[in-house]
Amino acid sequence: MKAVCWMGTRQIEVQEVPDPTILNPRDAIVRITSTAICGSDLHLYNGYVPTMEKGDILGHEFMGVVVAVGPAVKNLQVGDRVVVPFPIGCGGCMHCRRTEWSCCDNSNPNAKLAEALWGQSPAGIFGYSHMMGGYAGGQAQYARVPYADTGPIKIESDLPDEKVLFLSDIFPTGYMAAEQCDIQPGRTTVAVWGCGPVGQFAIRSALLLGAAKVYAIDSIPERLRMAEASGAIALNSDEEDVHERLKAMTGGRGPDAAIDAVGMEAHGSLYDDVKQKLKLEQDRPYALRQAMRAVRKAGVLSVPGVYSGFIDKVPFGAVFNKGVSLRMGQTHVHRYLKPLLQLIEEGKIDPSFVITHKIPLSLAPEAYETFSEKKDECIKVVLDPAA
Ligand SMILES: [Zn+2]
Ligand SMILES: [Zn+2]
Repeated sequence: MKAVCWMGTRQIEVQEVPDPTILNPRDAIVRITSTAICGSDLHLYNGYVPTMEKGDILGHEFMGVVVAVGPAVKNLQVGDRVVVPFPIGCGGCMHCRRTEWSCCDNSNPNAKLAEALWGQSPAGIFGYSHMMGGYAGGQAQYARVPYADTGPIKIESDLPDEKVLFLSDIFPTGYMAAEQCDIQPGRTTVAVWGCGPVGQFAIRSALLLGAAKVYAIDSIPERLRMAEASGAIALNSDEEDVHERLKAMTGGRGPDAAIDAVGMEAHGSLYDDVKQKLKLEQDRPYALRQAMRAVRKAGVLSVPGVYSGFIDKVPFGAVFNKGVSLRMGQTHVHRYLKPLLQLIEEGKIDPSFVITHKIPLSLAPEAYETFSEKKDECIKVVLDPAA
């Protein structure tokens, strides 16, 4: 089959690789019909995530048709159309039973690597380094899905791929980020740093949950326009003092909740650019610092943006003295599959609004560059493995 392989920093190749096979009784094999490139794939592309190896298959946002199931998979049949959550959950450990799926104790066979860095290992993730399990990803024609009896959701309606594909990650990720903000309908104000795909879903989700006002912060005009079209108030961080504007629009208090949908590759601070390039700092927390200062006293800071290591000059005194609650982590995707599919079926949201590029899988190397450099007004790329 064809697969998108990581061959080094900013080196992506589409290669011919062996088809996946059933390895465990709870596996399924899925023929992928649509797959997307995620903002967090750019951290791999740009070389910021350790334990990547040449030839690793990328991708954790995918859906398709079941072509084989292991003997223990009773809920899926060959021919079923499924969306696959990006974290892998066993369904039986303490965390999975508490619906903390991205914290599964059993799905990362390389847990030791993650424990060395973080103390404990989170769940394995498709196509996201050896530290996160070394699983082959979904930017390919086929994928092996472990624990297939507990992860994938069946799509039984005729909704097109573009409307349901993002249940795999960015819709639940934006939704969980908004849910963590304790939104009281008609009262809560939310500021979102970063209007990439996750930021866009955080904005729409905050509004679906009844936020009184959502402020969208970015410096890229087309991303701000998309946020405005969703109903947010756009703030261009290149043109205005975000902190002062937010204060002015919230009666001097600051927003009730802040969402950092940027993560570790934020732009705007030369200090962090230099330190990250010199490997003195793993992540560039520019948006995080701004959000920590801007959020109101006793507010919430919700972080869906991905961080992987150590960060510098974090104003921890600001969030401590203001009594801010910090909420973050990889998304517990499984928890959101059914309720969010229902919102899509009811027409409350059409997730395809975020797609700007639909291209064949074979053009993935170009697509990574276009997305990473934000060329051609690129916000979200969907790849077609059959083309
Ligand atoms: Zn993703
Ligand atoms: Zn588990």
